[in-house]
Parts: sequence; C-alpha cells; structure tokens
Amino acid sequence: MAVDLSHGPDVAELARRTAEFVRDHVIPVEEEHGGVVSSDDVRERLQRAAKEAGVFAPHVSAEFGGHGLDMRGRAAVFEEAGYSLLGPLALNIAAPDEGNMHMLEAIATPAQKERYLRPLASGEVRSCFAMTEPAPGAGSDPAALTTRAERVDGGWRINGRKWFITGAEGAGFTICMARTSGEPGDAGGATMFLVDGDNPGLKVLRHIETLDESLYGGHIELEFDDCVVPGEAVLGEVDQGFRYAQVRLGPARMTHCMRWLGIARRAQDIAVARAAERRLFGSRLGDLGMVQQMIADNEIDIAASRGLLLRACWELDQGEHASQSTSIAKTFCAEAIWRVVDRSVQICGSLGISGDLLLGRFLREVRPFRIYDGPSETHRWAIARRVLRHHERVQSGRS
Ligand SMILES: Cc1cc2nc3c(=O)[nH]c(=O)nc-3n(C[C@H](O)[C@H](O)[C@H](O)COP(=O)(O)OP(=O)(O)OC[C@H]3O[C@@H](n4cnc5c(N)ncnc54)[C@H](O)[C@@H]3O)c2cc1C
Repeated sequence: MAVDLSHGPDVAELARRTAEFVRDHVIPVEEEHGGVVSSDDVRERLQRAAKEAGVFAPHVSAEFGGHGLDMRGRAAVFEEAGYSLLGPLALNIAAPDEGNMHMLEAIATPAQKERYLRPLASGEVRSCFAMTEPAPGAGSDPAALTTRAERVDGGWRINGRKWFITGAEGAGFTICMARTSGEPGDAGGATMFLVDGDNPGLKVLRHIETLDESLYGGHIELEFDDCVVPGEAVLGEVDQGFRYAQVRLGPARMTHCMRWLGIARRAQDIAVARAAERRLFGSRLGDLGMVQQMIADNEIDIAASRGLLLRACWELDQGEHASQSTSIAKTFCAEAIWRVVDRSVQICGSLGISGDLLLGRFLREVRPFRIYDGPSETHRWAIARRVLRHHERVQSGRS
C-alpha cells in the first residue's frame, strides 16, 4: 500500500489558524504566567478564546463539537498548538484529557459518552487516567498492577494506590485501571473503571513535587479506599483493560510527540533569533561554525521527529496497531526534542538559563517525556524483541 503522509487544505487552514491563535492569544498569557497556570479562570478564558477562534477540540468528532481530525491531521494542528506550553490547554488537547477523549470515543457506550465524553470535550470538566502505582505496582511493566476491584452487590469495590496521576485533583472523573482477575505479574485481568470525582472512596493523598509544572493540575498520589462504583462504571469489557489501554496509549504517545515538537520548534526559533543578533569574536553568533552545527542538528532532529511521527500516524489511520512505529517515533521524538531544547539553551548562553526566556522552563517540561508514555529503555526493549520475533518467524518459514 502506498504511504500517504499528506493532509488536505482544510487541515492546513486549521493549522494556520491555530498558529495565529497561539501567537496572538496564548503566548501573551504564557509569558505573563511563566508557562505555568493553575487557575480555572485562566483555563476557561483561554478555552473560550479558542472556541471563538474556531480552533477548539480539533480531535473529537463533530458530534461532540470538534473537527474530527485523523492522526495525520492532528500532527499538523497539535504541533502548532504545542508552540506554546498553554496552547494544548486552550484547545482542550492537553494530556491526559485528549487521550481520554480518544479512548471514550472508541470504546464507551452511548450513555457513557453522554455522561463523560460530552462535558470533557466541551471543557466543562477535566479528567485523569490512573494506571501507575508506587513500587511494587504497575509502572513500565503494567502487568505488575496491584490495585484490585472485586464484585459487590450492583457494582465493584476498588482498593489500591496510584501515583503520578496528572490532573487528578479537581478532575470530574478518573479512568482507573484495576485488576479484576489474576495476580500481579499476569499479563491479563485488568479492567477500566469510570470513577466520578466526588466518589467518597477516591482520595487525593498529595501533590508530588516534580521537575515539570506545566501540565494542568500537576501530578497526584491517589488512594482508592473501598471505592464503590456501579456496574455501568466499567469501560469496555471486564478483564480487557490492557487491550483498551493500547487504544489509548499508542495514539496518546503520538499526540505527546506532536505537542512537544511544537515546543522544540519554538526553542529553535528563540535560539536562531539570538544567533542572528548576538555578536562576539567579531562576527554574528550564527556565523560561528559550532553554533551553525547546533542549529543544523536542531533542524535535523525536528525534521526526523516529524517524519517518524507522521509515518506512525499514517499506520494508525489505516487502523493498524502501529506498535513498532509508535515505539520508534516516541523514543526518537522524546530524545530529539530534549536535544533541541538543550542545544537552544546552549546557543543562548546565560540568557538561556535565565528566567528572561522560557527555554529553561521548556527544558524542565520536556525531560519527563523520556519517562512517561513508556521510558526509552522499555520501548527499545520492545522494539528489539519485535525485531527478533520477526527474524525467528522468517527463519522458521524458510526451514
Ligand atoms: C510527569 C509524569 C506524568 C505522568 N502522568 C501519569 C498519568 O497521568 N497516569 C499514569 O498512570 N501514569 C503517569 N505517569 C507515570 C508513568 O507512566 C511512569 O512513570 C512510567 O510508566 C514508568 O514507570 P515508573 O515510573 O514506575 O518507572 P519504573 O517502571 O520503575 O522504571 C524505572 C526505569 O527502568 C528502566 N526500564 C524500564 N523498562 C526497562 C527495560 N525493559 N529494560 C531496561 N530498563 C528498563 C527505565 O530507565 C525506567 O525509567 C507519569 C509520569 C511522569 C514522570
């Protein structure tokens, strides 16, 4: 099949309008707040402006108020939104809400879509996704899942502890992954539950202090303490949670790459502007060979990231799992985006370290991306195992 990485004029126009909206409405707010906002007022103001500009929720279907972009379309628009740390929040395409909307559209019942997806897509509520647990529970290895849900009259009772749950405090609902059969270490037996934010069994234990701060609502440690939910709270089928997690995680990895690619481009633009104006050793900074090398390497990393990302998006748009291509793209993008922001800081010298530019903030924000959505090592391990399995299949076919 021919690989088609293109998108139509409608997407190009939406990407152009998104870029304009981010430049005119979002960057001034980002600069005012140093890239970090925690106020619902600011979030709502940004989202109202995005609705007025006609760029809100580009990923959800028209039925839920969006533009219904496929993954390749999202790549073009999300990168423009990601040019500011607050662009994704304004467009309602920030993590974890955007991945949750994607999954709810794919697997929720019509009643669950009305109750959870509709208010999430309109920005009326936020959500979170609770998978990771403190050791010895689920992390890079989801099969280590320890949180349990047991059947009770009319529903389920969930017990367990989760941490690093982005946006959990104040979320309208949590999608919780809990074990409904088997033991920690078993590859199956997980179920996803929709837990309302006001459920008395759902407790916020603490805000975890982290290097990054721009993802709205921070990262939270949560406890499910005899948390009882009705039977209709099951998302998808019982015991199929790990399968559904792939529906969310593959595309969510790619949308993280798209948004952070926007920040990489912004960092490069800041560095290039500095290299063009700053004079030292009798020439422009940008005329010095080693600086030119950093500028060129940034361009190469940005272009290569975009290429790998689009290829994975095309596979996802064909309905494929795209496990290998999303792992490859995620690993490369997370590392390349870090390199671009780091080189941009270097080009700007002490100014790059200072709070006068947002580069230092960008550096802190992109570092954790090499850990969440699968650490680079987990992806490299999975990539190599698939290659070896393929080799074995080819060999056994020959013999
Ligand atoms: C900023 C941030 C936001 C997050 N948001 C959420 C969220 O909203 N919801 C949620 O459920 N989780 C969230 N997480 C958690 C994230 O998904 C986990 O951190 C990630 O899955 C890794 O798990 P872990 O931290 O337990 O690391 P561990 O599983 O303890 O892994 C530690 C290290 O082991 C190494 N490693 C892993 N696999 C291999 C391998 N196969 N071979 C060799 N070495 C390996 C890697 O270097 C890895 O960093 C977030 C994390 C961060 C940092």
